[in-house]
Amino acid sequence: RLTLRKPIIAANWKMFKTIAETEVYIDKLMAKELPKQVDIVLCPPFTGLESAAMAVTGTEIKIGAQNMHFEASGAYTGEISPVMLGDLNVQYVILGHSERRKFFHETNEIINKKVHTAFKYDLTPILCVGETIEEKEAGKTLEVLKQQIDQGIAWLTANQVAKMVIAYEPVWAIGTGKSPTPADANDSVKAIRKYIQEIYDMETAQQVRIQYGGSVKPENIKDFLTQSDIDGALVGGASLAADSFYSMLV
Ligand code: PGA
Repeated sequence: RLTLRKPIIAANWKMFKTIAETEVYIDKLMAKELPKQVDIVLCPPFTGLESAAMAVTGTEIKIGAQNMHFEASGAYTGEISPVMLGDLNVQYVILGHSERRKFFHETNEIINKKVHTAFKYDLTPILCVGETIEEKEAGKTLEVLKQQIDQGIAWLTANQVAKMVIAYEPVWAIGTGKSPTPADANDSVKAIRKYIQEIYDMETAQQVRIQYGGSVKPENIKDFLTQSDIDGALVGGASLAADSFYSMLV
């Protein structure tokens, strides 16, 4: 790969792991030699963030949340704010994951508000985009990606876009064991980069890191990571065991 973009591999644990399980996992990971040439982010559920952040203190591992509210505080029963994440030394936040879009009805507009809030509170957003199987079969993949990008990053500055992370996750590939060919995934990622170039400029497009996600596992991660435009992975199921996740980092 002829790029200066540093790969970023993130573990999305979804609604899995107790505090005790979080600590065991991080102990196992830290017992190994961690690679320096890749950014490593663990995204536990909210209840695991504090112990995870404490456990990785002094290491290169960063912690991310899987969601947050777009306001700093307020009467939003059951929600967690960016300020609260900052309190726990959380540095990343996954936004607009397809499960949030599908089960919690998050729209591009809401996700855009969250992305702005993330920057306001010094969190790096990992913005997820991707087409459903229906959209893919209807030949609408690029149209959907363009809309999710246009609306998801609306009104960000070029500087912010350069610093954010985007995860291209075809919805039909998440948790299914199915995935696009690495070349097809790379084409979609290139298309996303091109939209960013059209909205901003070449430099911004060349700086933003774009991950691939969807049924990434130890057996296929290298095929994705060696593509020209894929700058890492967002890993769900295969990140739940520390050994499996570690094997994808090296
Ligand atoms: P998966 O999930 O790796 O289990 O397919 C990826 C994700 O939802 O981010």
